[in-house]
Amino acid sequence: MAQYNPKSLKAEEFINHEEIIETLEYAEKNKNNITLIDEILEKAKQRKGLTHREASVLLACENEEKIEEIYNLAEQIKKDFYGNRIVMFAPLYLSNYCVNGCLYCPYHLKNKHIARKKLTQEEIKKEVIALQDMGHKRLAIEAGEDPVNNPIEYILECINTIYSIKHKNGAIRRVNVNIAATTVENYKKLHDAGIGTYILFQETYHKESYERLHPTGPKHNYAYHTEAMDRAMEGGIDDVGLGVLFGLEMYKYEFAGLLMHAEHLEAVHGVGPHTISVPRVKKADDIDPDEFDNGISDDIFCKIAACIRIAVPYTGMIVSTRENQSCREKIIRLGVSQISGGSRTSVGGYTEEERPHDTEQFDVSDQRTLDEVVNWLMSTGYIPSFCTACYREGRTGDRFMSLCKSGQIQNCCHPNALMTLKEYLMDYASEDTKKIGEALIKAELENIPKDKVKEICKENLQKIENGIRDFRF
Ligand code: SAM
Repeated sequence: MAQYNPKSLKAEEFINHEEIIETLEYAEKNKNNITLIDEILEKAKQRKGLTHREASVLLACENEEKIEEIYNLAEQIKKDFYGNRIVMFAPLYLSNYCVNGCLYCPYHLKNKHIARKKLTQEEIKKEVIALQDMGHKRLAIEAGEDPVNNPIEYILECINTIYSIKHKNGAIRRVNVNIAATTVENYKKLHDAGIGTYILFQETYHKESYERLHPTGPKHNYAYHTEAMDRAMEGGIDDVGLGVLFGLEMYKYEFAGLLMHAEHLEAVHGVGPHTISVPRVKKADDIDPDEFDNGISDDIFCKIAACIRIAVPYTGMIVSTRENQSCREKIIRLGVSQISGGSRTSVGGYTEEERPHDTEQFDVSDQRTLDEVVNWLMSTGYIPSFCTACYREGRTGDRFMSLCKSGQIQNCCHPNALMTLKEYLMDYASEDTKKIGEALIKAELENIPKDKVKEICKENLQKIENGIRDFRF
């Protein structure tokens, strides 16, 4: 039997089934142990995070009063680390060719009635121009796994094309990559191509379920998939994004696995995950989410988000357009730092007039335009940020974490958010959004603590007004 060891490089030792089972038993036994819950909440207030065991007790807690405290603390930690900024991004689907057999994904090999499509470099240009014209600066590229149709050379060529397109005042300044687990050598190539975060969802940490849900194709290999982030880090990528596809397995199991994965990265590489995504299984072409037994309610979904926020305060949290407006509203408050807007999950979807469904990966619940999302965020008290500064300033991995820990975020991310929002308002916003945004920027300038930074920010905002772009701290 594999022994639990967070420092091990073997999947079954750092995501250890027995350790998860014991954690769940411990959490179940202590779910109404108010003394212990109070101790854990006290520790969480130090904002240094929690272990997977401690966080699992909070997730299991059934006491209404304590759950309220968990939510309040999550909200406070979010405010302390991320202020009221929400970073915006969009997914860009490059190709839906795939050789895997994932039971929850319509791109699976056996699906013969979905149109297969792979963007040419010319088509990518058109998609990127459409995304730039919406106002996006940060993309997450997505592709199925297919060594013949989507080899690493294709992905690299696409990244190169995306970064090279300069249309009007538009630019994609950060490309995050969500492609299948690959080799150290390929991760090095992605790193050299200047990617931001490498994102790979674990889907499920439960090995047996994982193998059942991925019956065929290279993704079937649990260890290869689970150990991918270590290879990515070995290849020089120090911002990695974890995620679980909620609905496939028991959420408490996944939650413990997710945090063990974060602890493992910290133990081995000295830096935890840059982001955690919390997708839920959605309806899609030949996929019916009700076929999976472990769907979670909005309330549980929010509880998971709050517990993640408390357990790993320095890790960004991403929620996509899989969630509708009202759910996003609730969950953003509890700890989400990044959301997508105006998304199309089909290959070539941004250049189509109508939302196409024939190559879509999943149904999009939040179908609002980027401008509507930006407007809504501002009206509910948030600052939509198009900032990409950290990675371009070399603040990745532990350097990003030290920025968080130094308390200087408000002198750095906050003005960057205001300057990139100003660019958005000048170049892409509707009249109404612009009006709300200008007032917001004026008010939020006063929340920059350092006078010198505030002055520079004001000067830059004026320069943006005069047509100059791309300022950052
Ligand atoms: N093909 C790559 C891989 O295997 O990791 C990543 C790209 S895939 C386009 C992105 C993610 O979409 C998957 O990791 C999965 O979690 C999610 N996904 C697949 N089918 C889904 C569905 N029906 N509903 C919601 N999300 C889904």
